Amino acid sequence: MPRQLILTLISPLLMPAVIIGGIYFSLANLHQLPAIPNQVWQIGPHLSLALLLLLSLVFNRSRLFYVTILVTLLTGIPSLAFPETYINLIMFGLFPANVILILGYQERGIFTSIGLWRLAFILLQPAGLYALWHFDPALVQTLITTDIANIPEPIQDLLVYSPFNPLLSIILGLNGLALLISVYWQRSSTARVIFTATIAVLAGPLLQIDNASDALIMASAMWMAFTILRDSHQMAYLDELTGLPQRRALNENLLILGRKFSIAMLDIDHFKKFNDKHGHDVGDQVLQMVSRKLRQVRGSGKVYRYGGEEFSIVFPGREMHDASFFLEEVRKSIQDYEMVIRQIKRPDTEKSDHAERVRGSYRAAKETVSVTISIGVAQKSSRAETAETVLKKADVALYKAKKAGRNQLQQSDD
Ligand code: GH3
Ligand code: MG
Ligand code: MG
Repeated sequence: MPRQLILTLISPLLMPAVIIGGIYFSLANLHQLPAIPNQVWQIGPHLSLALLLLLSLVFNRSRLFYVTILVTLLTGIPSLAFPETYINLIMFGLFPANVILILGYQERGIFTSIGLWRLAFILLQPAGLYALWHFDPALVQTLITTDIANIPEPIQDLLVYSPFNPLLSIILGLNGLALLISVYWQRSSTARVIFTATIAVLAGPLLQIDNASDALIMASAMWMAFTILRDSHQMAYLDELTGLPQRRALNENLLILGRKFSIAMLDIDHFKKFNDKHGHDVGDQVLQMVSRKLRQVRGSGKVYRYGGEEFSIVFPGREMHDASFFLEEVRKSIQDYEMVIRQIKRPDTEKSDHAERVRGSYRAAKETVSVTISIGVAQKSSRAETAETVLKKADVALYKAKKAGRNQLQQSDD
């Protein structure tokens, strides 16, 4: 199997394994650690879930918010004095089924009408479950003791190993499968963290160690909170179109550069005209293509989107002369690259032949475009010089490159 495929298959499973394994190992060896006060187990899960609710509300992460509500509701279930099998059916059947539904949701906000409907759907379920048990315990009994006939042999053999009755085992198996499919299908960080939290919460009662559920709920809540903060940090630092770090990240990194470095400023030539001719969407595709090419720069250059169609590359520990060599490589690779764009062309009714008009078709035509970039580069030339000054010198050199006819590199004079 190719390495990429194995990585894709394994990566969503890593975090659940780390959390569950870590908690299992720590709790199993707890006697070697100072005793943890009981209050930690009593208050900890609620406190961490409350923090997570607050974070998901403030950052408007509706799917994580719903999952947090679900887990919070689960923590309250033991106090309802349901029969154990009923609790198991809720915990291992209904809870993951809700998560699968949430994974299928699109992010549509929490306080929108659709968001509130989704919330109401979740909140009504405990009431429904309670009412069902309260008013028709006989029905609940049949539901939880139902045995399914005619289970095929191989599945029956598997069910022997399950701690649950056949019905619940099969529901749990199907839920697990659907969860896996969802997380492989979506591949987003949100889907992954929801998957991790769900698996960890489900593992709690199965570990059969004191406080395992509480510890796993706390760990899941913290991991979800961490993900919310990390995602929002990335959003602030990474440019959405190109995936490159943006100006804010550059400004921070400029402060920690060492004694020797070079900075290049790069700008796409005549990009305004290009946009006017081919449209903004094709312009965006070009920006993505140029970013890809810039990322390939050698010499440990770090690329940033400075703004619009301007980029910066920082070369730590490198002189301008060295950096210029690597910059020339990317300038040429961009100049030589012919990007294919798909354009829908209407058949020109006057010129096109009869057959084409009868078909009335739109003809998809392949067209290639290419762009060039101009580059200005400067280096730190005295001890007192700040990175900001070096960047300004690179900008002056870039202006020189533009004036000298574009599609070229100019080094700073001083
Ligand atoms: P020069 O060779 O002197 O650099 O000419 P120019 O037209 O590239 O320079 P100018 O700075 O006047 O124009 C920059 C253009 O870049 C204007 C704007 O339409 C385009 N642009 C900036 N950001 C984006 C973007 O995110 N997407 C697209 N499609 N175009 C952008
Ligand atoms: Mg510009
Ligand atoms: Mg330009």
